[in-house]
Amino acid sequence: MDIIIRNAILVTMDDRHRILKNFSMGIEGGRIVEISEKIKGEADFEISAEGRVVLPGLINAHTHLAMTLFRGSADDLPLMEWLTQEIWPVEAHLEAKDVYAGSLLGCLEMIRSGTTTFNDMYYYLDEVAKSVGEAGIRGVLSFPLLDVAGEEQGEKLLGKAKEGLKRYNGIERDSKIIVFVGPHSPYTCSERLLIQAKVLAEEHNTGLHIHVSETMTEVKNSLDTHGLRPFEYLEKIGFLGENVLAAHGVHVNKAEMDLIKMRGVSIAHSPVSNMKLASGIAPVPEYIKNGINVALGTDGCASNNNLDMFEEIKISALLHKIASGDPSVLKAYSALEMATINAARALGLEKETGSLEIGKRADIIIVDFQNPNLKPLSNPVSHLVYSARGCDVSTTIVNGDVLMLDGELRTLDENRVMKFAEEQAGDLFARAGKEDKLFS
Ligand SMILES: [Zn+2]
Repeated sequence: MDIIIRNAILVTMDDRHRILKNFSMGIEGGRIVEISEKIKGEADFEISAEGRVVLPGLINAHTHLAMTLFRGSADDLPLMEWLTQEIWPVEAHLEAKDVYAGSLLGCLEMIRSGTTTFNDMYYYLDEVAKSVGEAGIRGVLSFPLLDVAGEEQGEKLLGKAKEGLKRYNGIERDSKIIVFVGPHSPYTCSERLLIQAKVLAEEHNTGLHIHVSETMTEVKNSLDTHGLRPFEYLEKIGFLGENVLAAHGVHVNKAEMDLIKMRGVSIAHSPVSNMKLASGIAPVPEYIKNGINVALGTDGCASNNNLDMFEEIKISALLHKIASGDPSVLKAYSALEMATINAARALGLEKETGSLEIGKRADIIIVDFQNPNLKPLSNPVSHLVYSARGCDVSTTIVNGDVLMLDGELRTLDENRVMKFAEEQAGDLFARAGKEDKLFS
């Protein structure tokens, strides 16, 4: 075997919800090949996990990775003002190198905080892919499509999306990169572009990543323009299907909930972003009650402002309790499912990742329970949801590759990545005439 992790507490997230005490796990050829109390023999690489918890790597189901460069640059604004006054004017000056630097920083932060797969939507997809390749993380990438500036813009971006699909999908079986089609939203894409995106995704047998029903303004505008709410409109044009991952889904009525269920659409819930932009509270307990698959995502670092999925898990569990007045409405285990197996399902990767099971890819994290915030050990799941933080992750493994071991990064040069991002952010804001955005 390549790796054996010994004497761990395994929080498997499998369909039997097994939590195994003093178990070991064997990894070979990038996959989990054994889970048992004692693994005979030795591996090239042995990890003693005594007193630590091993769980499937967390999956961030909605982000814009390179927006790490925007961290802290535009806070305390509502969505449309934030987008049109702060984000889009700077993004207009984006260059490939910015996206590379911001994505590397994002990969570093994700490896440190236990995320092994992320679902991205951003420009310069080749640069995102390059950073993913260097970091060794698993990425589902989509190039944003929109045509607010007209048909020509839509065609140009569609061309870039096609290039990405051709370049990365299905080239090698073990590739850590998958490309989705990413129409930005029903309010930034014409009906024509939305349909083109859907057809493209079908041609390439891949997923669709789109923002839907994030704010009340979006719903109101959709009613004014189409006479239909966003999900009703998407249903009318034949867009919805099992390969659709809709980010946010904050404002939906009963009829839309039925459509989401009927079409098998997954929702990527981003509570921190929704709270920070005061967009609203997604009806997550109702989604779950209706059998709709809900995953969890941080959204970009301009609206969060970090990529710590542990924080997202905790806040999702807390938000729905206070919103409903019922502390049992979203239990700890359900919150953890949203960041693991549900997110894998939302990305069509449930056979490959999202739980610790023999045959699945070895996407694994080890959380160091020898930290004061995780003592005494009464309930591992409770601790993971309510007490742990991203910085409690000690080891991160993706596809059997050890990206961080006992807090030491093995693929990225941490100082170089942070310095590069700092320099590139300064450069970008200077190009956009917003030098005042950086403190240093
Ligand atoms: Zn987003």
